Amino acid sequence: MDKPYVNHPITNTKSRPTTAGLVPINFGQRVNVLIIGGGPAGTAAAIALAKTGQTVAVLERSRYETTRVGETLAPAARVLLSELGVWERFHIDGHLPSPGIISAWGSEELYENDFIFNPYGCGWHLDRRRFDAMLALAAKEVGASVYLSTRVVTCTQQPSGCWWIEALCDGLPISFQADFLVEATGRTSSLAGKPATKRMIYDKLVGVIKFLTINSPILACDCRTLVEASNEGWWYSAVLPNNNLVVAYMTDTDLLPRKSIPLADFWQECHGKVPHTQARVESCLWNSSFHTVAAFSYRRNCVADNQWLAIGDAASAFDPLSSQGIYKALQSGIAAARVIKASQSNCQASLKEYAAHVEKSFAEYLQMWAAYYNRERRWSDSVFWQRRQTVPAK
Ligand SMILES: Cc1cc2nc3c(=O)[nH]c(=O)nc-3n(C[C@H](O)[C@H](O)[C@H](O)COP(=O)(O)OP(=O)(O)OC[C@H]3O[C@@H](n4cnc5c(N)ncnc54)[C@H](O)[C@@H]3O)c2cc1C
Repeated sequence: MDKPYVNHPITNTKSRPTTAGLVPINFGQRVNVLIIGGGPAGTAAAIALAKTGQTVAVLERSRYETTRVGETLAPAARVLLSELGVWERFHIDGHLPSPGIISAWGSEELYENDFIFNPYGCGWHLDRRRFDAMLALAAKEVGASVYLSTRVVTCTQQPSGCWWIEALCDGLPISFQADFLVEATGRTSSLAGKPATKRMIYDKLVGVIKFLTINSPILACDCRTLVEASNEGWWYSAVLPNNNLVVAYMTDTDLLPRKSIPLADFWQECHGKVPHTQARVESCLWNSSFHTVAAFSYRRNCVADNQWLAIGDAASAFDPLSSQGIYKALQSGIAAARVIKASQSNCQASLKEYAAHVEKSFAEYLQMWAAYYNRERRWSDSVFWQRRQTVPAK
């Protein structure tokens, strides 16, 4: 197992024995804002908040040690990384510049969307673990406390509006009192602070993903993202740092094979129908297992309430086809800092504005989503494509 990227901030904590006999590494630490989830949204919020002098703690359940999906960073993210003060270190962190996207969508011919005219320059193919861990470290350096390997046990709102959070950090109990709670837990199914909040789900998209080792110098130099449509879904592939190629088959959950058919056979059969992707895969060594991940679009019916916010994918999630998820996560983290500051003087107004913004952006995204899927008309009898030919009802 790889080493964790960020150590536990065990300093400045009070130690008291608990009834269970364990010694907690802190008890009732008071913070202005507690953030659950240390992905791009949570850490961007932590950096932006800590920079304005707020006391912030981030509780992250992993140690950034396992594979993370979502690798293409849009060129415009440069502005957000600069705003967070991490652009320089991002730039030297070994992520691969990507000159553009090639796609076989609507026809089997490849169409190139070059970033050459993009005002923000190139896009990027990320080592996601390194990227997320870098942001967590940056949050720690500007004063946030980042707790890794930490799982929330209870989370309750007091009559005053403040939050009481109990968690286990590497199995040891810790607790916090927070004026404001931010949930940045990604696609996790329920929110600790508002478990009754519902997700409005718009499709059944799922990704079957494999990380391959590149065995061809020609492919290693082709840092364009490849998107290729097929009869019951679509594929993307991207060259990553460390000589890896990520290849994903995106389809609907009910179009995946039954358990009796091995995923490897299904994947082989499907990628036989996409010549451009197949050529890339054939230049690689098959040495990893499959990851099956949910990728459906949704938004929460409630993303802001009294002293509480949901941000990033915890608030709404886009189809990976948009390549906007990480950008949106960073943007909503930065926005959260502004909303929380404003809510200290105008109470509910900024929270309502934030919720309206999430709803409006999602409605715009749905229009774009349908327009893009509508450009593919080759498989009119395919369930996958039929499901995507109209804008879903809001
Ligand atoms: C198949 C696929 C491909 C994608 N490709 C792209 C792409 O190319 N480009 C792009 O921009 N976006 C892509 N995305 C979307 C992108 O990955 C997400 O939108 C982005 O990661 C959202 O960031 P986030 O911080 O909101 O959530 P996440 O990145 O999911 O981070 C959430 C964090 O919270 C932690 N956590 C969860 N629950 C708890 C808990 N209870 N307690 C403590 N910690 C918790 C997790 O460990 C994680 O670190 C893709 C998504 C999928 C599914």
